[in-house]
Amino acid sequence: MDTHVLIVGGGPTGLMLANQLGRRGIRAMIVDKGPGPAQQTRAMGVQARTLEIYSKLGIADRALELGRRGNGANLWAEGRRKARIPLGEIGKSFSPFPYVLLLGQDDNERILGEHLRQWGMAVQWNTELVLLEQTSDRVTATLKAKDGTTRKLEAAYLAGCDGGHSTVRELCGIGFPGAPYEHVFFVADTEATGPMVPDELNVYLWRKGFHLFFPMRGSDRWRVIGILPKRLRHRDDLTFDEVVPAVRREAGAELNFKQCSWFSTYRIHHRSAERFRNRRCFLLGDAAHVHSPAGGQGMNTGLQDAYNLAWKLALVVSGKADAALLDTYEAERIPVAQRLLETTDRAFALLVSDSWFAGLFRTQIVARIAAFAMTLERVRRLAFRSISQIGIRYRKSPLSRTLAGLPEGAPAAGDRFPWLLLRLRTNGPIEDIFQKMDDLRYNLIVIGQPAPPKIAPGLGDLLGTHAVPEDADNTRELARVRISGPAFYLLRPDGHVGLAGTRLQPHDIARYLAESHIRIGGM
Ligand SMILES: Cc1cc2nc3c(=O)[nH]c(=O)nc-3n(C[C@H](O)[C@H](O)[C@H](O)COP(=O)(O)OP(=O)(O)OC[C@H]3O[C@@H](n4cnc5c(N)ncnc54)[C@H](O)[C@@H]3O)c2cc1C
Repeated sequence: MDTHVLIVGGGPTGLMLANQLGRRGIRAMIVDKGPGPAQQTRAMGVQARTLEIYSKLGIADRALELGRRGNGANLWAEGRRKARIPLGEIGKSFSPFPYVLLLGQDDNERILGEHLRQWGMAVQWNTELVLLEQTSDRVTATLKAKDGTTRKLEAAYLAGCDGGHSTVRELCGIGFPGAPYEHVFFVADTEATGPMVPDELNVYLWRKGFHLFFPMRGSDRWRVIGILPKRLRHRDDLTFDEVVPAVRREAGAELNFKQCSWFSTYRIHHRSAERFRNRRCFLLGDAAHVHSPAGGQGMNTGLQDAYNLAWKLALVVSGKADAALLDTYEAERIPVAQRLLETTDRAFALLVSDSWFAGLFRTQIVARIAAFAMTLERVRRLAFRSISQIGIRYRKSPLSRTLAGLPEGAPAAGDRFPWLLLRLRTNGPIEDIFQKMDDLRYNLIVIGQPAPPKIAPGLGDLLGTHAVPEDADNTRELARVRISGPAFYLLRPDGHVGLAGTRLQPHDIARYLAESHIRIGGM
């Protein structure tokens, strides 16, 4: 076998998977048919959940240094600012990163690509997957170099991170049902001045569509995204200058474009692969799902596909778990993709519908509803949880088990365990629980009861235990997320709750891990 995992595609999804496997000591190779890293910014928004994952990987500081924090989103209609969604304020008790980081996809790819060196890996550019064959114990991939020569490579598993036109998906015979939207998008990186609120997302809703202004690095630099007016949709030779009048008409005459460094138009699709796995091959990122960029979720969802699959692949490849663990990848991620498609579809339909009523609704009602809704605590929380992706959960997963007795509203199995600031030693300092959790292993959090000395012997260093001592500050902080009385939470390496209960019995942990395909004796 040449490698444990062959990753096809060096975009954000493939790079994340390669990093996650590398830091878990798994041999992986990453190839891409392109000549080098992408030069286009494409995705702009890095969501809080992605930053939490970046933090575990050790690249959050670099991303924060290069990006701009978008603390809020402003909704404009008919030349007036109608509402502001204060993301930073809403999210500050939910995540150490309560904002959308505005950082181009090219920068994200550069940071992830540079980090690969830590594990002795680098993307092999100009290397295209053209064929694959699978047997019961391996995948044989045929790779084509730029000069047309081919070579065969054997891997235990293959990860298709090769984008919307995925060769892996095609070679595996997996359908990609869905359809293109009739609208054509444009994207422009500009230098502009105008009424936009600096450093925040500005959304201009108008009768026939919308424009989004994302602040970029540098002064007066804005990424503008919108849909083309109908009369320009079929033009191949379009320039940004021809789009400017339509943008100014809606965003106001004060808007002044000084320069445009990149302009592109594109048609988007909404599609989801029928399966995310065919025997030893997996689909992740755009290869598995594509949807409208409304909401800035695309790149982030691919990164989280990779985070979900990486720890499972690592345990299986290193002999610490049975291959059945890999079945849970698509069981968990297909529902996430489907929900995403539905919500972005709905949001997109509202944003782009050409009908007179939709236009009126968009400009007169949406902003007012948003302004009112943002005064309601529940809606504010829901908005942050959805946009930031911290609300993604796997409650119906075969890996999720909630035992009886937990209070209503407490975190349950499948949820991302909430971000808490706790005292983890009596009279010790208050600590960030996310910093304490090691995402290379399972973490057991024991609350309101002593932690048993021996839990699941034979598990070796695959389990870390954190006992939360009785303390007034701890009680207050736990009550905020509705945890009261004795409780325990067994977190999977990706920070989602696997098993949750009240009184901890070591055999519950052992049974859960065995049922989750972890080989307890074999480590
Ligand atoms: C113009 C534009 C604007 C966008 N704006 C946003 C946005 O604002 N927010 C957002 O979240 N998303 C946005 N997206 C979507 C976002 O860019 C994608 O979700 C993201 O790139 C998906 O990453 P990926 O790694 O899964 O796939 P990709 O980035 O497509 O990477 C796939 C890689 O696989 C390689 N490859 C393909 N076939 C093969 C093969 N046979 N062998 C070897 N290599 C292969 C390709 O060269 C490519 O490098 C935008 C997309 C476009 C096009």
